[in-house]
Amino acid sequence: MTTVAFIGLGNMGSGMADNLVKNGFNVVAFDLSEAALAKAKDAGCAIAQSTQEAVSNADIVVTMLPAGKHVMDIYTSQILDNVGGNTLLIDCSTIDVETANKVSELAASKELQMLDAPVSGGIAAAAGGTLTFMVGGDKEAFEKAQGVLGAMGKKIVHAGGHGAGQAAKICNNMLLGATMIATCESFQLATKLGLDAQVFFDIASNASGQTWSMTSYCPVKGVGPQSPADNDFAGGFASALMLKDLGLAMQGAKGVDAQVPMGELAAKWFEMHCEEGNSSMDFSSIINRLA
Ligand code: NAD
Repeated sequence: MTTVAFIGLGNMGSGMADNLVKNGFNVVAFDLSEAALAKAKDAGCAIAQSTQEAVSNADIVVTMLPAGKHVMDIYTSQILDNVGGNTLLIDCSTIDVETANKVSELAASKELQMLDAPVSGGIAAAAGGTLTFMVGGDKEAFEKAQGVLGAMGKKIVHAGGHGAGQAAKICNNMLLGATMIATCESFQLATKLGLDAQVFFDIASNASGQTWSMTSYCPVKGVGPQSPADNDFAGGFASALMLKDLGLAMQGAKGVDAQVPMGELAAKWFEMHCEEGNSSMDFSSIINRLA
């Protein structure tokens, strides 16, 4: 039986670890939170007392942590020196490309294989085992990871070498943030110009202005498919997480001197939106700023 050490059992990690257990993996879990550990135990994970203990006999290590500083800290102080030589390391957190590259280089310097494998899909997809993984790292490690990633997701894409998974994730989410704002402002302008929102949806979703934010995640209540707008923007993808990803995109852009004017503007708007107390609301609630 393959043993997976799973570190970081929060909103996303708990569902992911649960799916590994359901798919026959021996999961040894660790989190700083006692409540998260109790939940993992109920789901059938073995509980370790520390990250070092969890990873010491693992075939595969999966981490799902809040940010780059946690990933750098935990790999350098607790993982890289405590795993066996054949252990495959997979970081599924969303972090900056620079840190992802640095950690992978440190792993490579110890002849360990490492993948950056951030996910698309929120808490429901993590619980349902339907995440999309965007994977950076070498092809051999990518092939080795198919079983474990396949138990947690429905689509696994090899984006390229180290850091390419994180690059794909932040570019996709920068595009999403900007197109959501553009979709929201188009609905608000259309309404102010006297158009019915449903009529505008019917036209634009079949015309050149069509976006995923409109047709699959419409920010207007009662228009298009069911979305967080129909639930007063509860659930979904929190504005705080969109702001985090836009921040990572801005950091990435600065590092390579890329021009991202729309991304910059989107980051500024989501920052204001979060400062106004909407951090936990779905990101499509930004339509309320444009009323
Ligand atoms: P979360 O804050 O709910 O979970 C993170 C967990 O890591 C917590 O349980 C925390 O106790 C644990 N942790 C932190 N430091 C630790 C350490 N040193 N040792 C052990 N455990 C530690 O976050 P989340 O929503 O599960 O998100 C995890 C990652 O996934 C983030 O990078 C986030 O950007 C990304 N992501 C989240 C979503 C989402 O919808 N929540 C969607 C896609 C990607």
